[in-house]
Amino acid sequence: TVLKGSDAAVQNTNDDAQISKLSCVRLGYFKDDFIQYFVRRASRRSPLINRGYYSRITALRHLLYQFLAAGHDPATGSTPPKQVLSLGAGFDTTWFQLQSEGIAPARYIEVDFAEVTHKKANIIGSKEPLYKLLGLDKGGEIDAESGRIVTDQYCLLPADLRDLKALEAALTSVGFQPELPTFILSECVLVYMRSQDSDALVHWLGRRLPTAVFVLYEQIKPDDAFGQQMLMNIESRGCPLLGIRGTPSLESHVARFRNNGWQRAEAKDMNTIYRDHLDPQDKRRAERLEIFDEFEEWHLIQEHYCIATAINDTQGIFRNYGLP
Ligand code: SAM
Repeated sequence: TVLKGSDAAVQNTNDDAQISKLSCVRLGYFKDDFIQYFVRRASRRSPLINRGYYSRITALRHLLYQFLAAGHDPATGSTPPKQVLSLGAGFDTTWFQLQSEGIAPARYIEVDFAEVTHKKANIIGSKEPLYKLLGLDKGGEIDAESGRIVTDQYCLLPADLRDLKALEAALTSVGFQPELPTFILSECVLVYMRSQDSDALVHWLGRRLPTAVFVLYEQIKPDDAFGQQMLMNIESRGCPLLGIRGTPSLESHVARFRNNGWQRAEAKDMNTIYRDHLDPQDKRRAERLEIFDEFEEWHLIQEHYCIATAINDTQGIFRNYGLP
């Protein structure tokens, strides 16, 4: 494909994310027993970065847990089977956490470039606490060479998200069921793709999935002084934020979803989410973990990240869906 050099740089952004998550875990911001296996060189991040990841992970987890609980029938105590599709999952450990907590959905499918899934499959295949959770003794296969893991519950698939035919073939090969309620997670991924490619992906999913929640986290506001500096910092590492001009604002994220097959959509910046939508008690706990005095920069950073959610709800199970 085109952009080979920048593809490699984009793949490296994954390592950066996992180092930051481990930094948070070690300081007690949130729990993740599995991230340690995916980081080769741990390093402690600044309080600013740690607090940013705390807000990101806490909000995203809330949205995922709420999705998993949706459609609960108090009479029977049951919830409908569901699936998660994680786009550009990198070394994300969410499935391992859910599985160890006994709340994993019927199916959890992760997609990333083959270079990344190859490394991930190698790590999973070589760490007992990870591969034990896969239940390979009950069937399924792990092919580290091609970066593919397929079990009843968890799949790791190599595919380029800009190639919808390849994505469709990969999903079909593991029996992806478009009619199941589906949570699509896109955490700092679409912004690295050209808008025409990410728009096509959003459209393709919106048209195929009648009951789904799309949750996206990424940078916005490239045009003010801080936004330009942010762009320069990221792009100097060789990975242009190709998509940020297409969705530079909260409004443009909402419009993109609404124009591409999604019934409802909303977007909030991370300042708003941190201030109004995180559990106040847990926030106080997190705020005591490190000395913190960079409030001005904190508000600037948080203003330049957003969570956008889109919903298709033919079954009416997401009527009250959203951050509290
Ligand atoms: N979502 C993970 C997280 O938040 O921890 C990883 C985020 S990392 C910043 C971006 C990920 O998106 C990388 O793993 C990269 O390889 C993947 N990615 C970007 N463009 C992609 C594409 N066109 N196809 C597949 N994966 C892609």
